[in-house]
Formats: sequence, C-alpha cells, structure tokens
Amino acid sequence: MIGLVVVSHSAQLAEGVCELAGQVGQGAVRLAAAGGTDDPEQPIGTDAFRVLRAIESVWSEDGVLVFMDLGSAVLSAETAFGMLEDERRARVHLCEGPVVELAVAAASQAGAGAGVEEILAGRRPEQAGGGEAHEAVVRLPNRLGLHARPAAQLVRLVRRFQARVTVENLTRGGGAADAAAIHGVLALGARQGDEMRVHAEGAEARAAVEAVREFLASGCGERDAAPAPERGAAAGLAASPGVAMGPLARYRPAAVEVVERTVDDPEAEARRLEAAIREAREETRALFTWAEAHAGHEEAGIFDAQELFLEDKELADAALRTIRERRANAEFAWREACGEFAARLAALEDDYLAARAADVADVAERVLRRLAGGQGGRAALREPSIVAARDLTPSEVRSLDPEMVLGLCLEGSSAGAHSVILARAMGIPAVVGLGGALAAVPEGTLVALDGGRGVTWIAPDREERREIERRRAAWLEARRAALAVRHRPARTRDGVNIRVLANISGVAEAAEALEAGAEGIGVLRTEFLFLGRATAPPEEEQLAAYSAIAEVMGARPLVVRTLDVGGDKSLPYIESGAEANPFLGWRGIRLLLGRRDLLRTQLRAILRAGAGHAVEILFPMISSVEEMKAARAEVAAAEAELVREGVPFQAGMKVGAMIEVPSAAVAADQLACHADFFSIGTNDLVQYAMAADRTNARVAALADPYQPAVLRLVRQAVRAAREAGIGVTLCGELAGDCAALPLLVGMGLREFSVSPPLVAELKQAIARTSAAGAEALAGEALELESSQTVRRLLAR
Ligand code: PEP
Ligand code: MG
Repeated sequence: MIGLVVVSHSAQLAEGVCELAGQVGQGAVRLAAAGGTDDPEQPIGTDAFRVLRAIESVWSEDGVLVFMDLGSAVLSAETAFGMLEDERRARVHLCEGPVVELAVAAASQAGAGAGVEEILAGRRPEQAGGGEAHEAVVRLPNRLGLHARPAAQLVRLVRRFQARVTVENLTRGGGAADAAAIHGVLALGARQGDEMRVHAEGAEARAAVEAVREFLASGCGERDAAPAPERGAAAGLAASPGVAMGPLARYRPAAVEVVERTVDDPEAEARRLEAAIREAREETRALFTWAEAHAGHEEAGIFDAQELFLEDKELADAALRTIRERRANAEFAWREACGEFAARLAALEDDYLAARAADVADVAERVLRRLAGGQGGRAALREPSIVAARDLTPSEVRSLDPEMVLGLCLEGSSAGAHSVILARAMGIPAVVGLGGALAAVPEGTLVALDGGRGVTWIAPDREERREIERRRAAWLEARRAALAVRHRPARTRDGVNIRVLANISGVAEAAEALEAGAEGIGVLRTEFLFLGRATAPPEEEQLAAYSAIAEVMGARPLVVRTLDVGGDKSLPYIESGAEANPFLGWRGIRLLLGRRDLLRTQLRAILRAGAGHAVEILFPMISSVEEMKAARAEVAAAEAELVREGVPFQAGMKVGAMIEVPSAAVAADQLACHADFFSIGTNDLVQYAMAADRTNARVAALADPYQPAVLRLVRQAVRAAREAGIGVTLCGELAGDCAALPLLVGMGLREFSVSPPLVAELKQAIARTSAAGAEALAGEALELESSQTVRRLLAR
C-alpha cells in the first residue's frame, strides 16, 4: 500500500487534504499530515522532524509520495529526506506543487490500482484500442457539478472498461479531457446545467458511454442533485420577486483610496491594523467555509492560501514597522507592505507561486476595506445590469443603485439574509444560492432572472427571451394593478380591519413607505446609521435621523428598533472578538446590554425624537424576562437623565419586545407582563427554531417559516399577546408572503409590517381574504406535520 504525506504550513490544511485524499483513495493509501509546527506561538510553518515522523508512520515498500506546498515546506521535506536511511530514501519521492490537487489525484489513482511509478509518470494503468466509437451528450444536474468527489468516482468508473473515454464540456468549451485522469476531469470546470459530451473508443465503448451517461445524469450520485433546470437556465432559490434581463456585471467594490498621513499615536494605529487583519482573517475563514460547502475543498483552497497570507508575520511586521518608524497611517503601511510582498512573489520563476501575487492583492483589499470601516466604494456600472456576486453584505446591497441594478444573482445566501431582505426592500429582483452557475459566464453576457421562481437564464435564445419578456410584462402589470389601490385601508372581505406597516432602514425610505401605501413604520432597522463608518453615530446625529422620519410620519406610528448588530452584521468599532457561532453570540440586545454607552445614547435619541410623535421603542433578540427588564430599566434611566437635564422627550413611550428567539415565544405569557407590545420576527425565529442559519443556502429548505414548529411558536406568541391585551405585529418576511396571509389572519394577527414594495400587494391579498374562513384554515394547518403539507393546504 502506497504511503502519502502532505506537508503544508498549516496543520489544518494538511489534515484537510489528507481527509479528502482518504475519501477518494478508498483505503488504498496510508496518509499522514505534516503541517504546522509544535510551537504554540508560531503554529504556522513547517518542521523537518514532523515530516520525518510522518514519512516513517506511512512507510511502505510500495513507496511514499511526499507532497509539499510552498517555501519552507520544500526545505523541511528535503531535510527530512536527508535524515532517512539510504534504503528507505530510494522509495520516497518528493513532489512539489499544488498539494490539494496533487494529493487528491495521487490518492484517486492509487485507489484505482496505480503504483507509485505510474502516478509519478501520470500514466494510465491500461490503454484500450480498437472497437467502435460511441458518444452521448448529457446535462449535469447536481448543484455542485463535477467537484473533487464525483470527479474521482468518474475516473474510477471509466477505468473499469476496456475503452478510452473522453469527456468534453460543451457549455464552457476547452476541448475533451481524458476521463481516466483526475486533473483533466477537474479542469473541465463542469457546473450544474453544463452539457457534457462523453466519447469512448474500444472494445467496451458502448457500455462505458452508457455507464458514464447514467452516472452524470443521476447527479453523480449526490443527494442534493436538483431537477434539471429549464433549458439554458440555472436553478437557485427564489429571493426577491421580479423578472429582469440585462448584461451580466460582476460585483467588484471600488478599490479603497489610500493616501499617506502622519499619525499622532503610532501604537493606536498599529492596533487598528492588527484588528483589521484579524477581522479580514475571520472573513477569509468564513469564505473558505462557504466555498468548501458550495464548491468543494479544492476551490475553497484559494481562501486557505489567502488566510495564510493574513497570518504571515513577515507581512504584518513590515507594515507595523512602517507605522512605527515613519509614523505612517495603517492604510498606507499595509498597502506598501503588500505591494512589496506581491512584487517579490510575482518575480519568482515558479508559475504557481507567481500566481499567488494576485491573492496578496485580494487579501490587501480585504484589510483595507476593514480599515475604511467596511466602505469599499460603490460598484461602478456603466449600464443597467444584472449583478452577480458570491454574496453581498447589507452595506454592499445598500450601495447598489436600483436604477442600474436590474437584478441580483448570488452564489450563496438565502431569502432570509439581511442583505437579501434589503434587496427586496429596494425592489431589486434576486435569485440566490446559485452555486457556481455563473462562475464562468463572461461579463456582458445577456442574463435574465425570475426572482419569484428562483430561475436564471444564461444567454437566453430568442424564444426564451420572448418568454422572459412576457413574464416581465405580467409582473409589471400585477404591480401596477396593486399600486392603483395601495392607499385604501386594508380590510378583509368580511370587514375585519388589518393594519399594514412598513419595515424600513433609512430616512429616505420613510416617504417611500407612505407612498407605497404603508400606514406607518412597524420596524425602523436603525443599523443603517451605524454601518459603514469608523465610529458610532453621536446622539444628535441619531436624533436628527429619527426626527426626520417622525416628521414624515406625522401622527402615524413609528417603531424604532434599537441597534441589532452581531450575527451577519458587524461593526469595526465594536470589538466582539472571534465567535464560533455569531448568530448565537453577542447580538442584538445582548450586545447593547454589554455596551451601555451605545444603548444609552440611542435611547436618549429615540425618546427625544418621540416628543410630539407616535414613536415606540422595540428591543431585538430578547430571549428572557431578565433581559427585557434590564432593557426597560435602561429606558427609565435615560428618561431620568433627560428629566434632570430638562431636555424635552416623550414620557411613557411604549416599549416592545421582538419575538424572534424560541425562548421568547415559549415564555411569551411571562414576557407580555413586561412589554407593551410584541413584534414577531419570523426571519430569526425560523433560524433559531430550526437551527438553520438564515444566510446558508444549504439549509434553506429547513429555514422555512411554514415549518409547523415555527407556526406553532407564532401562534403561542399571538395568543399570549391577546390574552395580556397588548398589541402584536408580525414583521418578519413571512408577513409579506401573500400565500401565508389567511393562515396568519386565522391565527389572530391583525397587523403586519413588510418591505415597502410589498405593501400594495399585501393589501390586495387582504381584500380577498375572509377572516372567519381563515380561522378554520389556521386550525387545520397547525395540525399538519410538514411545511409542504401546509403549503399544499394554503394553495387549495
Ligand atoms: C426578523 O428576525 O424577523 C426581523 C424582522 O428582524 P431582522 O430580519 O432584522 O433580523
Ligand atoms: Mg431579527
């Protein structure tokens, strides 16, 4: 049995590669990871003794292959090699290059019976000639395409036949690849929806083609194989309704402008840089996790390498030296250090290492964006376009111009992510969870999407374009009809009044909400004031913003939610440290109760803005009565302060609790004694009740508000509010889903708060609903056992 050793600067990377190689090698190789060092202060690096121990542990007469990544890995492996006994040395082979690809390919070949010599020579175990040629064309249905695992299975499959088999990606071009060589198969870059031509020659050509066709058509045996999308279309998740078509443009935030400045306090500047590097490293790790889940380990490897750059002491030290010696600002020092580092790499003879210079540039920008408080500038578009991105942060979505962004296509994310909620609020149609479907599509290619169905078309033909235009016209017509009656009060068919409010996150949106037909603001997400800047907004600035919105509202209600950051929204001036599970960590009211300075300032501004207006306070992420009591005590303290100062404010302002954590729903009867109203946030209630991250496309099916458990929690909260005689609003995205309306009305809800563009349609749907009929329907729905059966019942 062949031995295989992976030498890398990162222990985690080496172990990860071994895990992957172990899977494709199917027990035919012995594996040992030799990554990192024993020094807890300096865990990144390589250690010759570690490499030696690893070689010894997998020693085999059949031979040992040692794969090394860059720089000192080669040195350490060569040193270890030198320390081996002479007879052993003859059977150990050092292989330089991209460790992930090389190790996986070697394990796959060994799994198929190849020996060390064959692997080194890249030879196939057998060649079959003669016989007939056969061919088939098949479309790949599985979401992740031919990533490492299915590619290895394909290689093993074709090796069973007396035939020479090639596979060609007709969608992306690039010629035919030998299906018995993993490098060739991976290089096809085959994604969901791609058309593949399978060709075989030899005695068993027909059987080989049939077997490969079946393997590919079945989604390569992967569980997440999605049904084949419409012709020319890629399936994603429905995220923001609307149909749009235009040229594809990739989201690239504008580069951060850097000018050299002299700083007064170099030590503070050094700390600022260190914090930015740390945060950029967390972001890179998150990108790695995401890419690994969606595109496979190999493709995620790029982020692993980038993380290593961010951990590189030499790079950070060079920048810190510039700050201290030249009293330079962090941005300038960091750009200088990265520039030199990238230039050194680019000058190397080794193509692989030279190509890493681009990674350094990428990493440099990530840190600079952090230093600039998350502002990378706007993505400049030359014409109205469909924008594609891996994912976008809420502040990046905010920076989009709806006039120029016809639609959004995201590789990751899900309908409940804050950035997607924002896109909906801005009326931008969006499809998310597309994986790599658009990865290889050139910019400028005509792309269309139907955000209500979660479908994207790439280079649609004439017939498809006609169909898309028909859908767009129908969508616009439905919107027009709804808008015509948007200012009418919302009343059910049997005369029950329902109040429709709007969720907004900006001053300008207040007027837009009224224009859209809203009767007030159900949730003002105040994060807009805090995101994308280097320090928290002072009281006067907050007061001005809240007052401006209150002015627009006049006597209409304005519910101001206190800052809800943490989870998928972070601020450079709030040091929250690395959290393994940010959504379960320091978020919402937890964070504010730990940062009383921020809470006090915000409460004072809200109370002051409330003078003469119908302003109310809402606390997010309440999970216990104690928290609610502590938050209310802060309101009382802020009031007492304002009284002492003689500053006018609204006394006795109503204070509400968001019901978005299951514990709050379960203890809603107790919470109702300490809250003046409830606002049910189903976006978070779903993720916490179902333990399904709202930003993760993989678990989007679980994060479904139609899940019976979630509906029961909603019912529990509504009942508790009604019994206590306090108000209750539903402000999660479920409120804007017209299909769910009868169910929600049937549970007793009489107030909804939705994105402004959804107000008109919701009012129309209310006019079609009968409250009496809805009650019976809700009773029935809450007895059902799955989200699908609830949906089917509502559809009936
Ligand atoms: C919710 O969780 O449903 C909600 C309205 O709050 P947010 O989406 O801002 O977390
Ligand atoms: Mg929430």
